[in-house]
Amino acid sequence: MTYINMTTGLLNATYRLLAESAKNPVEVGLLMRWNEDDRYLWTIWSEAYHPGIVTSYSSAGMRRDVGGHAEEILIKNWRGYEQEAGFRPRIVDLILTKLPCFMTSNAVTLGTRQLPVGCAGKLKVLIEEIQPGVLDWRLAYFRELNPGPNSDIENGGSLSLLSTIQKLSVYSFLDHHSFVAQGFGDGLTIA
Ligand SMILES: [Zn+2]
Repeated sequence: MTYINMTTGLLNATYRLLAESAKNPVEVGLLMRWNEDDRYLWTIWSEAYHPGIVTSYSSAGMRRDVGGHAEEILIKNWRGYEQEAGFRPRIVDLILTKLPCFMTSNAVTLGTRQLPVGCAGKLKVLIEEIQPGVLDWRLAYFRELNPGPNSDIENGGSLSLLSTIQKLSVYSFLDHHSFVAQGFGDGLTIA
């Protein structure tokens, strides 16, 4: 059975992530840890798109290439994390304040690849095609997608898409308070 090893470092980082994101619900935060080693732990926040700026990862000049959803930033900057760490991970833990979107983020070009709409679909390409060397991915999220007329479809679509990724385990903490005050949901353990 796979689980997220909630070390003190990751737990403290999660508390900081929740405290910061509580100040602004529009902001989505993401923690990424490699190989269960808290020395390789990054915090990534969603950022506004900056239209018209073309960066090296895309040749599509009209696309909005800078900024984006936290998952998009993670995918676009992956090589930078590898350079920083000096290795390629075998285990990746992701803790998100919100479930990856199903249809919101635009399709983008990343090198020679086309990433689909939605961050759930983008993560699927990352896991299955771009980084096949990672053996075990775990994703935990705190909130469902923003309420709206299509939120049931979007939440269900995202979860069912994520469930098709064989190397990925998904955990949810829908209630912040139970996480903070009482402990952990299935699949999580304290080191
Ligand atoms: Zn997204």
